[in-house]
Amino acid sequence: MATMTSLIGLINKIQRACTVLGDHGGEGLSLWEALPSVAVVGGQSSGKSSVLESVVGRDFLPRGSGIVTRRPLVLQLHKTEDGQEYAEFLHIPRRRFTDFAAVRKEIADETDRITGKTKQISNIPIQLSIYSPNVVNLTLIDLPGLTKVAVEGQHESIVEDIENMVRTYVEKPNCIILAISPANQDIATSDAIKLAKEVDPAGERTFGVVTKLDLMDKGTNAVDVLEGRSYRLQHPWVGIVNRSQADINKNVDMIVARKKEREYFETSPEYGHLAHKMGSEYLAKLLSQHLEQVIRQKIPSIIALINKTIDELNAELDRIGRPIAVDSGAQLYTILEMCRAFDKVFKEHLDGGRPGGDKIYGVFDHQLPAALKKLPFDRHLALKNVQKVVMEADGYQPHLIAPEQGYRRLIDGSITYFKGPAEASVDAVHFVLKELVRKSIVATEELKRFPTLSNDIASAANESLEKFREESRKTVLRLVDMESSYLTVEFFRKIHLEPEKNPNAPNAPNRGGSTIDSTDNHLRKIGSNVSAYIGMVCETLKNSIPKAVVYCQVREAKRSLLNRFYVQVGRKEKEKLGAMLDEDPALMEKRGQLAKRLELYKQARDDIDSVAWK
Ligand code: GDP
Ligand code: MG
Repeated sequence: MATMTSLIGLINKIQRACTVLGDHGGEGLSLWEALPSVAVVGGQSSGKSSVLESVVGRDFLPRGSGIVTRRPLVLQLHKTEDGQEYAEFLHIPRRRFTDFAAVRKEIADETDRITGKTKQISNIPIQLSIYSPNVVNLTLIDLPGLTKVAVEGQHESIVEDIENMVRTYVEKPNCIILAISPANQDIATSDAIKLAKEVDPAGERTFGVVTKLDLMDKGTNAVDVLEGRSYRLQHPWVGIVNRSQADINKNVDMIVARKKEREYFETSPEYGHLAHKMGSEYLAKLLSQHLEQVIRQKIPSIIALINKTIDELNAELDRIGRPIAVDSGAQLYTILEMCRAFDKVFKEHLDGGRPGGDKIYGVFDHQLPAALKKLPFDRHLALKNVQKVVMEADGYQPHLIAPEQGYRRLIDGSITYFKGPAEASVDAVHFVLKELVRKSIVATEELKRFPTLSNDIASAANESLEKFREESRKTVLRLVDMESSYLTVEFFRKIHLEPEKNPNAPNAPNRGGSTIDSTDNHLRKIGSNVSAYIGMVCETLKNSIPKAVVYCQVREAKRSLLNRFYVQVGRKEKEKLGAMLDEDPALMEKRGQLAKRLELYKQARDDIDSVAWK
């Protein structure tokens, strides 16, 4: 008996948990559906409320002539050892009702809160726990009484609505049906038996209860029904004598009523031989025994169901990420882990594991050569400009084999043009890298939950890229400058070694031609010499600019993108680290809820484990 008490008490706990979780047994396989419950079913005024009150041993259910029960009442009975007696509603946690008239009023008020005063019905249950030394641990569900016609003020569909709602409860295989039929009606017309037969044809989970035995016409009795001859059920029929309306009006005490009921059976000429199997107390005992048996059979599947839910909750928690520890060591570790995860994704982009890095080579293979090709050397080295520059630099000195200053200016002027494409390459690669940072932040799963940290990492990475860009810019400009200084020397040596190219030299081919022509040729020659030289420089820069850019930007991005960030983070205090790990509030809320559910299910599993093998 002790085991049974704890077992059913445990089931009560789990059912309460399910209701907390918003599980009304509506859709899918839920814990609620896996657990047995006892539903009281019958026509209006068949004595349902009386039977319930009798099992509980207290008056607390609203009564009246209309459809008083318009919401299911889930009633959990807890036997107390310390003699305390009180009731508690789930919707008013921590308020203990000791006045059962107030309980009755709260049921009525809470019914109205959902259904209004319109006499409509709702399938959202009211959950009430009763703690008392005078009860057996049981979970009972009081359902609205079945009716045959809609009365004034009710919708035409009420008869069907009630039947459908009652059916949703009793058709569940785990629902034990307490089918209540008044003895003063023919059992063949019992609404309760009719519905029970429909949902439980084998009668395996139906308990037939006959009320109002005291109100039968003189000379008739219910022995045929009670002994199972009129309608056969797997479980024995139980006869009940509740308080009459007159008893209720006289405030006849429940304990007194039970005593009277016992006396009724013990002294009854018709039912005396059945006395030990009749009455409210016997019914309660019978139900408890049956529940224990059912629950014992269910334990493995309940545990399986709980485990499945726990696994699902754990998987969901893993998916959204576990909460971060509060000590700064763990926080720092988490931040560095995130950085590593991000860096890994970023490198994959650069190394080709992910797309986007190839755009850098697009800059070198297409953009840079195209920009170089477009440089306006033709214009710069056109006859007129060459003349202008040479004149300005050296004056007209036809005896000069090579007007050095003129050459120098033409070359320097040309080389300056390379700065544009060089800087453009630096910028283009910078923007590719910046885009890869953005993409990598988005693609780093672990970072999703930390918007602040994501921002911090992104801006640290961009700051580094900015630095690399500056370094790279300086380097490519220096490369361009270098091209003018060193190769210039080479170039002039070459020109001096080719005297036949001097139009004023004694053996020059156009000697004796007009001065204008020879000057033009001379200038043209200068132009083409410079052009050839610039062509060489161009080839060199086409190769060296990408090298510098890769060296300064791409290689550095791979090596040290977050180095400065690591130093900064290492210096941060605990609160600042915590702030970096701020999460999306909605996510935190969700995790909290999942964790709460998980706790609830784990608690339920521990409870079941602890009693399963007793
Ligand atoms: P419910 O509508 O099914 O909940 O029925 P109630 O429990 O409210 O009972 C309806 C009326 O029948 C009340 O006036 C009860 O006092 C009366 N009643 C219920 N059971 C018995 C019984 O066994 N004997 C007598 N004499 N009256 C009963
Ligand atoms: Mg009732």
